[in-house]
Amino acid sequence: MDIARRQLGENTGAVHLPPPPETAQRPAGTPVYRTAGWAFSSAQEYAAVLGDQVPGYSYSRIDNPTVDAFARAVAALEGANLQRWPAAQAFASGMAAISGVFWAFARAGAHVVAPAAVYGGTYSLLRNVMTRFGVETDFVDITDLDAVRMAMRPATRIIFAETIANPTTAVADLRQLAEIAHSAGAMLVVDSTLAPPVICRPLEHGADLVIHSATKYIGGHSDVTGGVVTGSLELIGQIRATRIDTGGSLSPDDAFLLRRGLETLPVRVRRQCATASVFAATLAKHPAVAYVDYPGLATHAGHELARRTFDAGPEGVRFGAIVTVTPFGGREAGLAFASALRLAVPASSLGGTHTVVSHVASTTHRQFDDRALAAAGIDAGAVRFSVGLEDAEDLISDAFVALETLGRPSRNGEG
Ligand SMILES: *Cc1c(COP(=O)(O)O)cnc(C)c1O
Repeated sequence: MDIARRQLGENTGAVHLPPPPETAQRPAGTPVYRTAGWAFSSAQEYAAVLGDQVPGYSYSRIDNPTVDAFARAVAALEGANLQRWPAAQAFASGMAAISGVFWAFARAGAHVVAPAAVYGGTYSLLRNVMTRFGVETDFVDITDLDAVRMAMRPATRIIFAETIANPTTAVADLRQLAEIAHSAGAMLVVDSTLAPPVICRPLEHGADLVIHSATKYIGGHSDVTGGVVTGSLELIGQIRATRIDTGGSLSPDDAFLLRRGLETLPVRVRRQCATASVFAATLAKHPAVAYVDYPGLATHAGHELARRTFDAGPEGVRFGAIVTVTPFGGREAGLAFASALRLAVPASSLGGTHTVVSHVASTTHRQFDDRALAAAGIDAGAVRFSVGLEDAEDLISDAFVALETLGRPSRNGEG
């Protein structure tokens, strides 16, 4: 029926507007496909696309071109195999990506080995949610490879690691962990949120899957949440299948922002790493500071490993831009220090253009009781800095002024 020639009612005419033009030229920017679904030329085509018999888009929870553009870009930067699609899957948040991996691969009776210092949300997921589905996790010091070996069981399916831990900045030995995992028939899954592709590409070190909270460095402006997983085609295909059923898909608008963030990722992260190096080295010498955790410091337990694993540029090795400063004086001193800063503000998230701080024990790791904090090597006074794009001198003077307010503790103080 030729509806164009018929006189339509005003409402029908309004909802049956002409479709947007299809362009013969490839757009140079990233078009935002803000649509829930696609129209098909026939009911048969609709069925074939839904059934994955012919390639195409049907519904944005399943796949969306803008979301795929973002996921594909991350796969490229991480060095995943792009010959066939899907090489990556994007999610509505980092936790949706992390849980998406567990939904895909954990089974009742399965066992997971994860870091004691793991991100608070992941800790809570494994401890409070996955246990209800019969998945057990041992939390170990992931930098202690013997402890990891000891924790392995026949049922272990996943070793979960963070390239750089938040907030301890412990560095994972990805090669060794991959070897331990693979010789036990398990997978190495790496949350590399704190070490985006310009710092490290875990797939090159033997990881089976790499996950990012794209909310952090990838987005880079603290204005969007998202997550992404990349790795081998087969594994990603399984993750896609469970993502479709569990529904934590990324929106096209957010995918647009995240993909745009990738374009400045090297520029931002290189500068943030360089500033963080100077900031960490200077703060470590302050008399009110008990210690500073930063992989770039020669005193850091993971310093040599980080040197071997992380990328370097003319500005030196990129050790990340998270610096955890523990003043003398415990929990109260940590809270007072974080509150006294003027330039660096207490705020959630990290990896953005602004320097933000969090008093770890009362914020990102509030899910940890005192025992879990101690097991993770986190002092109750620790203050985590996510170093932004400000000038290093300004950040240092801000921290020095704030440390002055703590009084005059000494290295023999109660820290
Ligand atoms: C923030 C963060 C997450 C969670 O990401 P969301 O986007 O907040 O869901 C996971 N892992 C690490 C290391 C993080 O910093």
